[in-house]
Amino acid sequence: MAKYSSKINKIRTFALSLIFVGFFIMYLGIFFRESVILVSIFMFLGLLSIIASTVVYFWIGMLSTKSVQVKCPNCQKPTKILGRVDICMHCNEPLTLDPKLEGLEFNEKYNSKKADS
Ligand SMILES: [Zn+2]
Repeated sequence: MAKYSSKINKIRTFALSLIFVGFFIMYLGIFFRESVILVSIFMFLGLLSIIASTVVYFWIGMLSTKSVQVKCPNCQKPTKILGRVDICMHCNEPLTLDPKLEGLEFNEKYNSKKADS
């Protein structure tokens, strides 16, 4: 069985890794000091990655406003649900807003349009 994690946490991890990738690319540029063009390319790519990360962080902020804050029935901590089904950020308990899906095994495909039919 695949291991799921909260969608917002997943995106946050992605944004964080983009920052590291960005700095790493910039760092690699140091090895090409002899060529101004190469250094510029590396710096540009690194900067692009960091900009992408801030965009993703902004996107998380947008998603957070759309998500529903609930109290997890399992660990009693407040968590956010994105879409019809999501996972608790703290204890990975599957959560749903749709009573029809309650009690069913967690499946991310419930979020896709196909599952609505
Ligand atoms: Zn929980």
